[in-house]
Amino acid sequence: MNDEIEFRSDVTVELVRSQASDGDVLFAARVSTIGEQTLERAGDDEELEKRDRGLINFLMRDRHGTPFEHNSMTFYVQAPIFVFREFQRHRIASYNEESGRYRQLRPAFYVPAPERRLRQEGRPGKYEFHPGTPEQTALVAEEIRGASVEAYGRYQRMLDAGVAREVARMVLPLNIYSSMYVTMNARSLMNFLSLRRLVEGSAFPSFPQREIEMCAERMEELWAERMPITAELFNRNGRVAP
Ligand SMILES: Cc1cc2nc3c(=O)[nH]c(=O)nc-3n(C[C@H](O)[C@H](O)[C@H](O)COP(=O)(O)OP(=O)(O)OC[C@H]3O[C@@H](n4cnc5c(N)ncnc54)[C@H](O)[C@@H]3O)c2cc1C
Repeated sequence: MNDEIEFRSDVTVELVRSQASDGDVLFAARVSTIGEQTLERAGDDEELEKRDRGLINFLMRDRHGTPFEHNSMTFYVQAPIFVFREFQRHRIASYNEESGRYRQLRPAFYVPAPERRLRQEGRPGKYEFHPGTPEQTALVAEEIRGASVEAYGRYQRMLDAGVAREVARMVLPLNIYSSMYVTMNARSLMNFLSLRRLVEGSAFPSFPQREIEMCAERMEELWAERMPITAELFNRNGRVAP
């Protein structure tokens, strides 16, 4: 196999399955006061009344988190392995990832886009990033491309010699792409978003690596299309996961 090496500067995030609406929050919350009649209102997003918004706002503000768990979103993600390492620290989610033991990994490698900020200033936990000089930008592209080509060549030579994939992959770098399905509910997604996006107005600002933030941005867009009121009130309440 002599695949062309692909360099990418993006991530892929698609919502492949979901059952998620603002109504799902309301029906779960109201069982405490009106029992099973709440099912009749489930999913009734277009007609959400002021009082319904008020209830979601109360749940969000006072951190009554469990009504935000009665929904499900499955995302398909393609991103470099260094992003997956961070992603999979979020334990309240379900993951299935492609295997480097059962298939040959595709030669797709991440290289930062020229506009990606390269210089880090500040202290751990509160870094600021600034644009690189033209020389730094060129150096980063050259070194990352060169290392990727070199590593994939070594990987392929071992495979061609009959070495097992699980052994040959040991030379591959963290910027090789992987793919996975990840399933979360809105509560765990809000926790993920509060930590993996830096958004003005956050009560507890976080300073994530840019590449996982690119995944989080797209996930938030897809989620907000399905649960617009919950997403809006998450923002209005300082992006604190309930
Ligand atoms: C900017 C940034 C820098 C980071 N730097 C590092 C680092 O240097 N080193 C490092 O190792 N990690 C680091 N992390 C990862 C971080 O420590 C968390 O592992 C990650 O953010 C997942 O958060 P979580 O535990 O809230 O998510 P989840 O695992 O999805 O958990 C969600 C929530 O469930 C509850 N929960 C889950 N498991 C338990 C449990 N066992 N006991 C009690 N409650 C539980 C908690 O309330 C938790 O907030 C960093 C994360 C960020 C955002």
